[in-house]
Amino acid sequence: MGMGLPIIGIVPLVDIQRNSYWMLPGYMKGIVEAGGLPIMLPLTDDLDQIEQLITICNGFLFTGGQDVAPTLYGENKLPVCGECCSERDSMEMKLLDAAINQDKPIFGICRGIQFINAALGGTLYQDLPSQHSSMIEHHQSPPYDVPVHTVTPVLATPLATLLGSSPLAVNSYHHQAVKRLAPSLSAMAVAPDGIIEAAFMPGRRFLWAVQWHPEFSHEADQNSKKLFKAFVDAAQEH
Ligand code: MN
Repeated sequence: MGMGLPIIGIVPLVDIQRNSYWMLPGYMKGIVEAGGLPIMLPLTDDLDQIEQLITICNGFLFTGGQDVAPTLYGENKLPVCGECCSERDSMEMKLLDAAINQDKPIFGICRGIQFINAALGGTLYQDLPSQHSSMIEHHQSPPYDVPVHTVTPVLATPLATLLGSSPLAVNSYHHQAVKRLAPSLSAMAVAPDGIIEAAFMPGRRFLWAVQWHPEFSHEADQNSKKLFKAFVDAAQEH
């Protein structure tokens, strides 16, 4: 028996109306396919529990979900902002802080990039169509594994090293996005309308986040597989 599979703690999805925690299979399958062992975390902002989860897990996946509360980045909530989930905001703030302190690999998807950016001092568009209108389709209809726009990797970033610097075709299902990038993050990919769609934290083992949805496209799209693999490999090394 070897060291075992790297354990990836996944932030739970929350259905407020149904009072339910849930999970999209793609997050788990993408991690399993990449050689990791995913577990869904409890929804908690208890620091003792979070510290123990940090010890148990080799990496953390910050999932999609509700809009981040605009108060996190110093704005009032506009009518165009969607539903927020204070329990997730509260949990993820403490989990992100603890995971960064321990240099645990972190991967953010959709809300994940938005939350990480806001938590580290960046700001968000509360609603792209009304605040940054463009010809780019950012909120596609199903099926969600079909690419609808491109993103161009930024030269000399880990994403360009992993996937090359040619434009990537990505799916897109978001109405919010990074507005001002947090000081500690660097852009890794940009959409044709200037929206930052991937970022990382230089100097860290692995803190990456993307605005698109590899969990919907990992079966068909090699780039999505490579993203999960890069994350799980970083967790394996930890
Ligand atoms: Mn997009």
